[in-house]
Parts: sequence; C-alpha cells; structure tokens
Amino acid sequence: MTAPTTEARRTARQLAQAASAEPPRDVDPTACAAHGCPLRGTIDLGGSGRYLCHGHAMVTMDRWPAVTDGIRQHDWMLRIIRDIRAAGSRDTQWRKAAMLAWTEADMAPHADETQALYVARLLQDFEYRIGARANKPAPMVRQRTWKEFQPTHATAASVTGATALGDVL
Ligand SMILES: [Zn+2]
Repeated sequence: MTAPTTEARRTARQLAQAASAEPPRDVDPTACAAHGCPLRGTIDLGGSGRYLCHGHAMVTMDRWPAVTDGIRQHDWMLRIIRDIRAAGSRDTQWRKAAMLAWTEADMAPHADETQALYVARLLQDFEYRIGARANKPAPMVRQRTWKEFQPTHATAASVTGATALGDVL
C-alpha cells in the first residue's frame, strides 16, 4: 500500500506550489473589489487600496451580493446613460435620446436640467434602483443665485422707520 502515500505526498507538494505561485493575472486591477461586480472601482474608502464602484461603496459588506445582483439586473440603465452621454451636448441631441429611452414619465429630463445634471441624476437613480441609495432623486435643476434669493416685496413699514438696529429688535 504505497500508492496512497505517494499520492498524498504529491498532493501536498502541489498544494505548496500552488500556494507560493503568483496570483492569477487575469484579474482586472480597475474592477470593483466586490465579487462579481461588473463596474469599475472608483472609490477607495478609508485609503484601503481596495477600490469599489459607486454602488458598493455606499453599502455595508453584508449587502454587497444584493447590490451586485441589482447592478447586473440594471445593465439596461447603464446603456441608457451611456447613450445619453454619447448623444452630444446640444439640447436637441441628448434630450431626444432621453425621451426615446424612457417610458416612465418622471424619468424624462426636466426643462431646466442640463445634460451633465441629468446624467448625474440618472446615476443616482441607478444607485436607488440597485439598493445603494435610500431616496429616489428628483430632477437636478440649476441652483438659485444669492440675488434671486433676495426678497422682492416692499420692506415692512416698521423696518423702514427704524434708524438703528436697536429700533428693529
Ligand atoms: Zn461594485
């Protein structure tokens, strides 16, 4: 009965060789570190050197498999985002691509949304759909300037009559 011993010894040697071997080179170093995630890793939380995609970076590790499933089920939405980005920045071009892509009324671009703001909203909506964001984003419109925030109504008489700050308070 020498064969099993030889077999066992050979297996142990093979295991040792396998353990000391170089790690496989077919791993994409730009890929998200979450197992099976098709997205690129762009966020390094806490400087760990392990880059995650914008979906996995937002959830705890126990939810990674669910988020991976969500990403895989919503690849159609990533294609829409790519199409709208590629359509060109002129309003008629990207808005037409957006209108053709969606049947959901609330996903159409707002009249005041620019292409960049609309794409940013779509990415956040994607995060919402895959379970990485709690709230569905609203249309992203230009923020008001300080001048636009100023009151346009007439100043109250009590304030007009005041000559010093003490009179107002
Ligand atoms: Zn990922």
